[in-house]
Amino acid sequence: MAIPIRKPREVEALRKANRIVAETLQLLRKESKAGVSLLELDTLAENYIRSKGGRPSFKGLYDFPSTVCTSVNEVVIHGIPTEYKLQDGDIVGFDVGVEIDGWFGDSAITVGIGEVSEEDRELMKCSEDTLEFAISILKVGMRFKELSYEIEKFIRSRGFVPLSNFCGHGIGRKPHEEPDIPNFLTGSPKSGPKIKNGMVFCIEPMVCRQDMEYSLLEDKWSVVSNDGERGSHHEHTVAMINGKAEILSKI
Ligand code: MG
Ligand code: MG
Repeated sequence: MAIPIRKPREVEALRKANRIVAETLQLLRKESKAGVSLLELDTLAENYIRSKGGRPSFKGLYDFPSTVCTSVNEVVIHGIPTEYKLQDGDIVGFDVGVEIDGWFGDSAITVGIGEVSEEDRELMKCSEDTLEFAISILKVGMRFKELSYEIEKFIRSRGFVPLSNFCGHGIGRKPHEEPDIPNFLTGSPKSGPKIKNGMVFCIEPMVCRQDMEYSLLEDKWSVVSNDGERGSHHEHTVAMINGKAEILSKI
């Protein structure tokens, strides 16, 4: 199946959804501090999205129960909001999806609570810098597999490893569309689809300390690395417009 090419007005519809995502993440960044529970943050986010006419698109997606994926410390992605109250020194990933008018947005950040260790700052900076780097090298004609290869090399150059199995993705009329965009190379970088003007997709580096391989916690959602250490995740939705990558999920 071909990867959809979006018309300008469709890109604008995707920008609208992604703007609500970006505003929700800004709110979560501001409100996440020691003593605040993950469920309180989830409710804040849901109320904000609905006040903007959007729908939290992760709620009910593959039976996920909540608005925000809240991934604390060792949880790299897909954590479920609970009564847990954030503590000084925690790092927490917020991943938000919104649907409005049938179009989807998706973005994620990882933030530190209070005083965070130097090691954790480096870890968070790795996924953030990898995302910025990946967006900076996007060009028309590049293959998605080349992008994956470059992402993996960048993460490893910082002394970390990408999480296996999970990946970035196309986005549009559905929250997850073709192509898959792993943070590691699979097969030859000279194979698979090329990036074209009008494509809209999510890049989302998921960074672990030592082990790419993962396990699920008892909640069957929370993804942790088998090294048992902390992980970090950042994500943007980008559109290729006139040969350049534009971030849709920013304010
Ligand atoms: Mg996401
Ligand atoms: Mg995503």
